[in-house]
Amino acid sequence: MNKKLSIAIDGPAGAGKTTQAKALAKALGYVYVDTGAMYRALAVYMQDEELKDVPEILPEVNLQSTWDEKGNQRMSINGVDVTDRLRTPEISRLASDISAIPEVRDFLLETQREIARENNVVMEGRDIGTVILPDATLKVFLTASLDERAWRRSRQLEPGTYLLPSVKKDIERRDRNDSSRDAAPLAQAEDAILVDCTHMNIKETTQAVLRLWDEALARKAD
Ligand code: C5P
Repeated sequence: MNKKLSIAIDGPAGAGKTTQAKALAKALGYVYVDTGAMYRALAVYMQDEELKDVPEILPEVNLQSTWDEKGNQRMSINGVDVTDRLRTPEISRLASDISAIPEVRDFLLETQREIARENNVVMEGRDIGTVILPDATLKVFLTASLDERAWRRSRQLEPGTYLLPSVKKDIERRDRNDSSRDAAPLAQAEDAILVDCTHMNIKETTQAVLRLWDEALARKAD
């Protein structure tokens, strides 16, 4: 039985899952787990090696997540640190494409569950509440309007490089891909709580989730 505590945060691209998961993990002293970074690291490897067939190479892949002293997650693949290359629109697209492949999801599922078996975690992704941690202590589905998410994402990218309409199009495409695939699609778990942060700032959102966390712990103690 899993005695560790966990917060599962799922939601569409650009909703602020990473920012919130980091802030919550820091506030609670838990391990922050970015599962998207694992799909992205695989995508970087595919791109570097010019690979087309993902399932075939999986047995040769050694994917490692480590955490620095500030709690930031770093990703290495076959001994090479790829952390600084994960957040480009090209890698976002490729990660979304390969994440629809069932073998890829199976490959990462056990790695993700293992981390949650050993640590209290705040884990973010698309299928954490539905597939990876069905017994998570708290499940949050974090969302915001498409315009707001595109705006937030465009501010994270290199200034002047990617224009708002193209960021918006990318996000829309990725959400469509992620929600319509057969394998573990992006979906709100039945017992997840919807948090729409369109009109909330970062701090307000963290505080709202911390309140939900207190309520979840109180329910658990009953
Ligand atoms: O969360 P992030 O945007 O970094 O994720 C990149 C891509 O990885 C997503 O668009 C999605 O296709 C995939 N992903 C997933 N399941 C997860 C986390 C990410 O399919 N748990």
